[in-house]
Amino acid sequence: MLLRKVLGVFLIYAFLLPTVAFAQTAGAGAATSAAPAVKVYSAPKEAIDKIKDEGMNRSQVMQTLSYLTDVIGGRLTNSPNMKRANEWTRDTMAKWGMQNAKLEAWGPFGRGWSLKSFSAQIIEPQTIPVIAFPKAWSPSTKGAVTSEVVLLNAKTDEDLNKYRGQLRGRIVLISDPREVKADFDGFGTRRNDEELAKMAAAVPEPEGPGRRPQQANSPQANQFFQNFVMQAKRVNFLLQEGAAVLVDISSKGSGGTLFVQGAAVSQEVPARIEDIFGSNSRRLSPYQKEAEVKMLPQMTMSIEDYNRLARMIKLGVKPKMTVDIQTEYHDDDLMGYNTVAEIPGTDPLLKDEIVMLGGHLDSWHSSGGATDNAAGSAVAMEAARILIASGLKPRRTIRVALWSGEEQGLNGSREYVKQQFGEMKAGAQGQPATLVKGANYDKLSAYYNLDNGTGKIRGVYLQGNSAVKPIFETWLAPFADMGAKTVTIQNTGGTDHLSYDRIGLPGFQFIQDEIEYSTRTHHSNQDNYDRIQADDMKQASTIMAAFVYQTAMMDEKIPRKTVR
Ligand SMILES: [Zn+2]
Repeated sequence: MLLRKVLGVFLIYAFLLPTVAFAQTAGAGAATSAAPAVKVYSAPKEAIDKIKDEGMNRSQVMQTLSYLTDVIGGRLTNSPNMKRANEWTRDTMAKWGMQNAKLEAWGPFGRGWSLKSFSAQIIEPQTIPVIAFPKAWSPSTKGAVTSEVVLLNAKTDEDLNKYRGQLRGRIVLISDPREVKADFDGFGTRRNDEELAKMAAAVPEPEGPGRRPQQANSPQANQFFQNFVMQAKRVNFLLQEGAAVLVDISSKGSGGTLFVQGAAVSQEVPARIEDIFGSNSRRLSPYQKEAEVKMLPQMTMSIEDYNRLARMIKLGVKPKMTVDIQTEYHDDDLMGYNTVAEIPGTDPLLKDEIVMLGGHLDSWHSSGGATDNAAGSAVAMEAARILIASGLKPRRTIRVALWSGEEQGLNGSREYVKQQFGEMKAGAQGQPATLVKGANYDKLSAYYNLDNGTGKIRGVYLQGNSAVKPIFETWLAPFADMGAKTVTIQNTGGTDHLSYDRIGLPGFQFIQDEIEYSTRTHHSNQDNYDRIQADDMKQASTIMAAFVYQTAMMDEKIPRKTVR
């Protein structure tokens, strides 16, 4: 999923964008049919038992995960690894008997990037290997750079000026040191009964104006903007001054775990928060070709190594490092691709309708992207495999989609949904956005997403769609003894179901146990196969298969929220 911190800012900013409200429907299928009440379909027990048996006793989800994370590895959008993952998932699903397995273009996105070689160590006052990782799309250093390490301590323009003329060829630390705290609570957590009961009891969020503008004027929004501006000035200054390598501290984690994402690009300092996001933004992304000359070679360092360097500098020591970052850009194909494959429907009247499931296949680059989100991709593939192996014949067509570009803003799913189902077109000044339906808008029943890590499914978010509640409660009942029983009206964000939800199509993300997602794995160098919980993945695949199967079997489509 996308970084939660950034998402918070998107929420703050959301009031500035054209928005549309989707009301809850009182009855089933209000947008497309005249059905007076929700009819709750439930598959025969034998069908659910078949799914459980295949999913829990003959699972292949861990083999899929091992190939994706161990052999293919990190899958940065448009990298050669991402392309391999697209092709391997396509071929694997075809081998399982799925139809129309293919890559579908959604781009253009931008250039690919891969790391060719990397080393970093402190060489004075003594040799100390450090834990660090180049940021995605970082340019290369000019060979190995050996230089004094400078700590840029600049909170104001005047502070910055003090460094003028002193940074050429230097390795520069640009973050504040961060305190390391002992871990008394442990890394891993599961949701407890109290938390789940609270989610089940949640009421729909109030609609209408009021909440979001308050958030926009919040001290947090102002603080975010001030920090953003100063960070932009620091990056611009370092590029102007000709620094050799930019080093920041891992924003969280310790003990060898660092969290690393895309490279910082030098660009115009924004005057208003509107200039950062939305249609006014002219911000360059590191995967655009034009950004290459506006970036310094850069890396993120683990907290203990960074803090030690900073403390040495404060004590008057002048540490030296040697850093060698060698990277390669891939410009041969700037298009982004999703992997798509189908189990064709068998009912002459319903086979043109579609039930979708998926997760994003792209990841950040410093590890195998296991919990984010080989897990969700492998589970979606496995759910389809379970249905094929069980010999069940879905009435509607079931389509797996494995997205790319998710980490850069839900790009793969958003563009796919636009191509297939429609989009919200911004209204003129002050006017609400309107829904422009695509050719298949009325053919989709629902989309189910998995992208909250390796934790088992504990239930499902209704995304404000209360008409679906009795259906999902019925479908979860056979899985209560496996820990999944909570249906909450709440929304959840940060991942690809939003691409559906924002145009009024039923898109759902399951409630999952957290395990070590925020503390250890999400966008870190430790998001590896070893952090995956095998039994959780089997459970999730089985439940996803049962949800998708029953969505494909019911007479009606899943009820929709109505556009108003
Ligand atoms: Zn993510």
